[in-house]
Amino acid sequence: MDALHAGLLALDSHIDIPWPVTDDPTGITSRCVDFPKMRAGGVTAGCFAAYIPQGALDDAGHGDAVVRATAMLAEIGRMGRAEGVRLCETADEVRAAFGEGARAVVACIENGYAMGRDLSRLERFRRAGVRYITLTHNGHNLLADSAIPRRDLGDSVIRHGGLSRLGRAAIVEMNILGILIDVSHAHRDTMLQAAKLSKTPVVATHACVRALCDHPRNLDDEQLRVLKDTGGLIQITAMGSFLRRGGKRLDGTPVGIADFVDHIDYVIEKIGVAHVGIGSDFDGGGGIEGFTTIADSPNVTAEFRRRGYDDDSIAAIWGGNFLTLMERAERA
Ligand SMILES: [Zn+2]
Repeated sequence: MDALHAGLLALDSHIDIPWPVTDDPTGITSRCVDFPKMRAGGVTAGCFAAYIPQGALDDAGHGDAVVRATAMLAEIGRMGRAEGVRLCETADEVRAAFGEGARAVVACIENGYAMGRDLSRLERFRRAGVRYITLTHNGHNLLADSAIPRRDLGDSVIRHGGLSRLGRAAIVEMNILGILIDVSHAHRDTMLQAAKLSKTPVVATHACVRALCDHPRNLDDEQLRVLKDTGGLIQITAMGSFLRRGGKRLDGTPVGIADFVDHIDYVIEKIGVAHVGIGSDFDGGGGIEGFTTIADSPNVTAEFRRRGYDDDSIAAIWGGNFLTLMERAERA
C-alpha cells in the first residue's frame, strides 16, 4: 500500500449490512466490507446503515419499520463493540479510533420511513448512535418525495412537492440532535428544500453527478451549486449504473475506477474539493472494476495520484470533509 494511503484517515460514508445477519464481520466474510477487509484496505471508518425498505404508509408499515431499525441499530452497535472496533458518535471519536489503529463504526439510518409519524423516535435513534438519516429510499414516505417513485406501492410522480410539513419538522429536530440530513435518494425538490431549510449543511452520502450520467439518483449542476453555497457534500458512490449509463462504457466494457474518479474530478472542478467524498454503497449494490471491496481502496488513492491530486486534497476527499461536516452538526 502506498505510504500516503496508509497514513490517511479514510472514511466510507455509506455501507450496508446484510439483514438478517448470517455472518460475523470481525472475521473473513463474503461481504464487500468486514473489519479484516477494512484493515487490508487502509480504511478506518465506515458509516453503516440500518436500511429500511419502503413499505406501506400505514400504522402496520411504520410499526415494522421501527422494529427493524431498532434491531439493525442494535446489530451495528454490536459491531462497534467488537475487539479493535469502536462505535463512534463524534468526529473526535473517529480520530481517536484512527490514533489507536482501531476501526470506527458510525451508525446511520437509510430511510426516514423508520420514524413513521413520530418525531420523538429521532432522539431514540440518536441515543443509539445515529449520525445521519437518509430522508427517503426509493418510494415517497411521509417526510418527502423520492427521486424514484414506487408505482408498486401506489406512488404517483409527486406526493408532497418536496418536503412535507412533517419532513420539515424532522429536519429541524435532526439539526437540534446533531443528526446529518442525507439527501441521497431524495427528489430534486426535496434536496433543494432540505439544503435551504437545514441549519447544518446537507450531504448526499452516496450519489453521483448527473452531467456525466443522467440517472435520477444523481445530482445536477444546480444541486451541486447549492451544495457549494450551503457548505454541503456529495460522496461519490461506486454504483456502475450511476457512473455511466447502464454501467458500461461506450465500448461495452464495465465501468471502473477511472469513471468513478471522473465524477470526483467533475465535482472538484465545478464546486471545489471541500465538497466531495466517497460513499461506496458496498453491500448495497456498490462495487466496480478495481474497487470491488473495501480492501481495494488503495486503488482509488493510486488513481488520485495518477491525476496529480495533492496530499491535502486526497485526505479531504477520503474523510476530512465528512468529519468536518460531522463536527459542524455537533456544534449546531
Ligand atoms: Zn441507498
